[in-house]
Amino acid sequence: MADPAHDLVSESIPHWYGGDSDDVLSLVDGDGVVVTDDEGNEYLDFNAQLYCVNAGHGDERIVEAIREQASRIAYVSASKHNDTRTELASRLAEITPGELNDVFFSVSGSEANEAAVQFAREYTGARKVLTRYRSYHGATYGAGSLTGDPETRNAVERYAAMTGAAKFLPPVAHRSPFDADSPEDLARQAADHLAYVIQQEGPDSIAAVLMEPVGGTSGAYPAPADYWQRVRDICDEYDILLIADEVITGFGRCGEWFGIQTEDVVPDLLTFAKGITSAYVPLAGVAVHPDIAAHLRESGIDVGQTFAGHPLACAAGVAALDAYEDGLIENARARSDHLEARLRELEAHDAVGDVRGRGLLWAVEFTDPETGEPFLHPWVDDGDNPVRDVIGETQERGVLVGGGRPKTQIILSPPLPVTDAEIDRAVDAIDSAIASVFE
Ligand code: PMP
Repeated sequence: MADPAHDLVSESIPHWYGGDSDDVLSLVDGDGVVVTDDEGNEYLDFNAQLYCVNAGHGDERIVEAIREQASRIAYVSASKHNDTRTELASRLAEITPGELNDVFFSVSGSEANEAAVQFAREYTGARKVLTRYRSYHGATYGAGSLTGDPETRNAVERYAAMTGAAKFLPPVAHRSPFDADSPEDLARQAADHLAYVIQQEGPDSIAAVLMEPVGGTSGAYPAPADYWQRVRDICDEYDILLIADEVITGFGRCGEWFGIQTEDVVPDLLTFAKGITSAYVPLAGVAVHPDIAAHLRESGIDVGQTFAGHPLACAAGVAALDAYEDGLIENARARSDHLEARLRELEAHDAVGDVRGRGLLWAVEFTDPETGEPFLHPWVDDGDNPVRDVIGETQERGVLVGGGRPKTQIILSPPLPVTDAEIDRAVDAIDSAIASVFE
């Protein structure tokens, strides 16, 4: 008899992230925004299974593309060309910002970030990479060191760490050391702080600055207007590369193909994963500026992986891009205002301290109504945290939401085909869950 106790994967990502409380769901079916557990219960999947299934569950176009590829040739090694991989690379070149027209495929977001760092180091001859506190870039040894979230980083760095990973503060107003009186002021203060960190670290020692266009699991925080442009200018001034981690924000999540396109800034390298195939098959990669690509072709690329650019994944990728093009990104953009408006209604609860996000990526941050402080030290606990209860109560009401880190927030990222009616059902469930926990 199959026993889930043998499944260590379900223990490898805190259940918190997946929008679960005490009961780990066993999901057996999915259709659009709805997933079904092994007892036949249906849930609105407002986490898209860790921000992945952007095209929705059970999209026949993607399933058929995988089937067709498997029946032709299932695997071609990374040392050969393959028509499907070539097609996906060309399609990506059309949609990536600026001139980021060369694509290196890898398997996971962590590995894509590590490849981007390797490329940046190779190109600049410098070693350090600056990332933000309140960021997530992966959990392998290299990517784990780049991650700002201390739980992941400390777990990874207990045994080994990537050298040259330094941190700076994100442009967050809520509960932050910055004391800004406007978004413009916050953008200026946060960019000045980055410039200061660069000077202290030594500009010549720094290969790249790596940031998520909208902070993902660490709180769906968008940057204040002008922040990205200021960072781009600072990177140009010091000859430091700018890498956008689009693992969550890519493929329509923020209402454009890529989150960085909501900022009007072009990075030098752009990493992606999750939504590229809508997670039907694992695939990730790095879009690379032609100057860097030319340098890499000359110097050699030493980070190849057996399953990088797997044809089944590339077939899923081409079909997923078709689905996004066929109205899904437009729908994400169109539904965003309604999701925001409904989430802002939650601010009527004394326990809701902040609502923020962009496109279909939103966080609701909780606060102790008595003190205005977080309920708990944000980095400690799993036990007595009412936010955990909100996630559980929301699940009881048939809606799955994600839990971020720090664990003072819930995060919403529905599949892009979501409707206003589904948004209403989900937010009503969250509203009622908050009331049941706090009032
Ligand atoms: N970057 C970001 C922004 C992420 O959210 C994640 C995963 N949640 C990663 C990188 C790592 O991706 P993976 O889990 O596929 O290694």
